[in-house]
Amino acid sequence: MSSISTLVSQLVRPEILALNAYHVPVSAGMVKLDAMENPYQVPQSLREEIAAVVSGAAINRYPDPNPLALKRKIAALLQLKSGMSVLLGNGSDELIQLLAMAVNKPGTTLLSVEPSFVMYKMIATFLGMRYVGVPLAQDFSLDMSAMLAAIERDKPALIFLAYPNNPTGNAFSAADIKQIIAAAPSLVVVDEAYYAFAEDSFVPHLAEYPNLLVMRTFSKLGMAGLRLGFLVGSELWLNELEKLRLPYNVGVLPQLVAEKLLDHHDVLLAQAEQIKQDRSLLLQELSAIKGVKVYPSSANFLLLRVARAKEIFEGLKQRGVLIKNLHGSHPMLQDCLRVTVGTPEENRRFLEAFNETITQLA
Ligand SMILES: *Cc1c(COP(=O)(O)O)cnc(C)c1O
Repeated sequence: MSSISTLVSQLVRPEILALNAYHVPVSAGMVKLDAMENPYQVPQSLREEIAAVVSGAAINRYPDPNPLALKRKIAALLQLKSGMSVLLGNGSDELIQLLAMAVNKPGTTLLSVEPSFVMYKMIATFLGMRYVGVPLAQDFSLDMSAMLAAIERDKPALIFLAYPNNPTGNAFSAADIKQIIAAAPSLVVVDEAYYAFAEDSFVPHLAEYPNLLVMRTFSKLGMAGLRLGFLVGSELWLNELEKLRLPYNVGVLPQLVAEKLLDHHDVLLAQAEQIKQDRSLLLQELSAIKGVKVYPSSANFLLLRVARAKEIFEGLKQRGVLIKNLHGSHPMLQDCLRVTVGTPEENRRFLEAFNETITQLA
C-alpha cells in the first residue's frame, strides 16, 4: 500500500503541490493594520438591531438562494439601470473564481496588472488557466503601450483591473481603463473593493460597454467578517455566472446582517469619511519622516517605501503593531510596506512604533 504522501504527490496537480497556502499571520492582541479592515464597530443601537435580526433567523433552513430584498437594496444604492442585475458572492474572491471558471476554455488567458491583487493570479493557477501580469509603469499607473500590446498578443478572455489598485493604493486613469475596455475582446471586470474611499466609479459606465462588469465587496467597508461581495452588470452576463454559483454560497446570517447594515449605509460611509481624513493625516506624518516615501492613496491604506522594510516590519511587530511587508512579493515593491488606516489611536501607536523602530535601526 502506498503512503499517504506518495498518493498525495501522485494525485494532486503539480501546480497545486507547488503553491504555498494563503498565509494569514497571527494577530491576537496586536494593533491590526494589515488587512484593510474598517477599524470601527457599528453603534450600539445598530448592534442591538442586528442581534434581534440574528436571534430570529431561521438557521435551521438553507439560505434563500436568491435574496431579492438584499439584491434590491444593493441595486438601489448603486442606482442600477434596468437590464442590470446583481450577483452575490461569498466575498468578491468567490466572484473572481466564478468569472474565471465561466470563461476558462482550453488555452484561455486571464490578464491583470502587476503589482495588483494576488487572488487574480492565484485563482487562474487553481483553475489551470493561463495568466498574464502586465507590469505597471514605475509610478504605478497603467503602462498603456504594454497593456494594449499584451491584449493584442494574448487575447485574454478576462481582464481584472482593481480601481483603486491594491497594494499600490492609486486609482488608475479612468480614460486609460476606458481605452482598455474599448480595445479588448475580453470581459473586463473593474474591481471596486475600495469604492467607499475612492472618488470615482465605473458603475455609471456599465451601459456604455457590452464587455464591462463592476465588482464590489463590503469587506473594506466594515463587513469583512460577513463575506459578501457582489458583481453588477448586464443580466446576460450574470445569468451565465449564476449557473456556476453554488446554490447556498451566502449564508442566512450574512444575508440578514448585510441587509440591516445597508439600511444604515450612511453610518458606514461616515466611518469611511473619517478613515479618509485620517488617511491624509497619516500620509502627512509619514511623509515628514526622512527616508520614507509615501504613495498617494484612494483606498483605506498607504503604501510606503523605506530603507529597510523587513527590519521595520519586524520592529513594528515586536512593538505590537501588525502591518504588511510587501518586500519580496514583487520586484516593483522592493522595500515596500502597506499599512491600513486605523482609528486615530491605532495610527498614533503605529507612528510611535515606526519612529521608535527607525531610531533603533539608525
Ligand atoms: C480585499 C480585496 C478583495 C477581496 O474582497 P473579499 O470580498 O473580502 O473577498 C478584492 N479585490 C481587491 C482589489 C481587494 O483588495
